[in-house]
This record gives sequence, structure tokens and C-alpha cells, in this order.
Amino acid sequence: MTLKLCQGPACHQYTTKDRLKGPKENKTYQTRRRSSMYYGNGNFCSMQCYNDWAEEFSDRAIDHFGRLTEPKHLTEDNAWEKQYDWRDDGTYYVYVNGITKERRPLTREQFNDNNYTLNIGERI
Ligand SMILES: [Zn+2]
Repeated sequence: MTLKLCQGPACHQYTTKDRLKGPKENKTYQTRRRSSMYYGNGNFCSMQCYNDWAEEFSDRAIDHFGRLTEPKHLTEDNAWEKQYDWRDDGTYYVYVNGITKERRPLTREQFNDNNYTLNIGERI
């Protein structure tokens, strides 16, 4: 099992018991290691670490990947949103258009596939 390190820049500065690691005489507070983490796409051990990262790096990340300079517009072409309903006889996956309210059924595979989209104007 591979352990991932929390990417929070100050993770080691939060002095919780579980971060105190090392040989008896030489324990230090260390960045958390986990097999899975729940925040920031699995990169952070806590909301605090996620926020610390955002505070320090989001300007550079946004400049790197492209800062939005014009407002986006919701249109019929890009208003498709994946949704699911739980019912007694199972889970139903569906695409719903936020403007026209049209519903189109989806398979579970299509629902889980992040590259599968009906949004014509969103992805290049
Ligand atoms: Zn952390």
C-alpha cells in the first residue's frame, strides 16, 4: 500500500499526536501520510491543509492554467449536468439540462467517466 503525503504546506506545523513520528528520543511533527485523503481531490488530509495550500498557491495555479478574464455564460449547449436519483429499485443516472430541463438517461459508466459530457461549449 502506497502512502501519499498531504500536500498542505503547513501540515507538519499542526501539533496533533498522530503527526508526532520517529524514534523515541527524536520524535518530530511530520506531514501526514495516508493511503487515502478526502480533500482537494485526495491531496490533503484536512480542509485546513487544503485552505493553506489555496492561500499560498492558488494565484500561481490559476495563472498557470489560465485565469478567467470574461464571465462564462450558461447556454443550452453547456447546461448539461450529471445527476443521480436513489429509488427503491436502484440508482438512476441522468443528464439534466439546466436551461431546457430536458433529461437524458446515462449509464453508470458514463456517469463516472469525467471525460463523458454533453456540454458542447465546455471542453475542448
Ligand atoms: Zn495535512
